[in-house]
Amino acid sequence: MPVCPVCDARLTTGLLAWHLQCPACTYEGSSLEPHILEQAHGGDLDEASREQGLEHLRQANFQRLNALLAGFAGPGDARPRLLEVGCAHGWFIETVSPRFDVTGIEPDVAVATATRARGLAVRGGFFPDVLADEERFDVIVFNDVLEHIPDVNATLAACWKHLLPGGHVLVNAPSRKGFLYRVSKILLKLGRGGAFDRMWQLGFPSPHVHYFDTASVTKLAGKAGFALESRSRLPSVAVRGLYARVRYSRDVSVIKALALTVAVTLIAPFLAILPPDIEVWILRRPS
Ligand SMILES: [Zn+2]
Repeated sequence: MPVCPVCDARLTTGLLAWHLQCPACTYEGSSLEPHILEQAHGGDLDEASREQGLEHLRQANFQRLNALLAGFAGPGDARPRLLEVGCAHGWFIETVSPRFDVTGIEPDVAVATATRARGLAVRGGFFPDVLADEERFDVIVFNDVLEHIPDVNATLAACWKHLLPGGHVLVNAPSRKGFLYRVSKILLKLGRGGAFDRMWQLGFPSPHVHYFDTASVTKLAGKAGFALESRSRLPSVAVRGLYARVRYSRDVSVIKALALTVAVTLIAPFLAILPPDIEVWILRRPS
């Protein structure tokens, strides 16, 4: 069994064979293997559904994150440098490019090439390998990315190295305290494991390998020399585009997707006051 990336205790098997739990802290992980680089041409999933399903929610959330970054632009003429790890189609770096000098890193070579063709500064490959040793940024952003990276400690250590003193890391990721995640665990115990599998993105090109909460993020941050500066929430569900998002995984039937869409639409108004399924953590490298 692997050890907990937060506290180094030996992990134990959780609710399913691939689900890992730490007996000593709140960390949850998985032994699911990413296969970004090996997926079939055109991708394993329905990219058109994915784009359509996530677009509205993502754009709205990018505006919220942009507002959170407002204070980081700082005085003076020099635009602060922002790095986004796992920038995909570059929508977030486009959102923040009026105020920041932006760079993206994207492991999917086809996606990186397409994004670069649109004129954005995107490097194909992995963080931090594609950075020069001496490159430094004011802000490093992980939008739904850190939970996919196996060695989270090495990643945060690399952030420290590539940030200027006083710089920030912005992480948004699924929260293990989220309402929908808790519901998926209850459903799993009732014999309906589909939602739990989906929460971990089982079978996706890049499944989740971690589920964090504020306690685990604070401890991981501290080990890498960061302090937790703030936490906030992002909506994980938007009714608009929901059906396409549910259908994104091709094994969900039309009837099941419709039923799920109706169910989530009914509970959506309450999700805003329930424990958030996506949290935003801002970490600061001390000056
Ligand atoms: Zn632990």
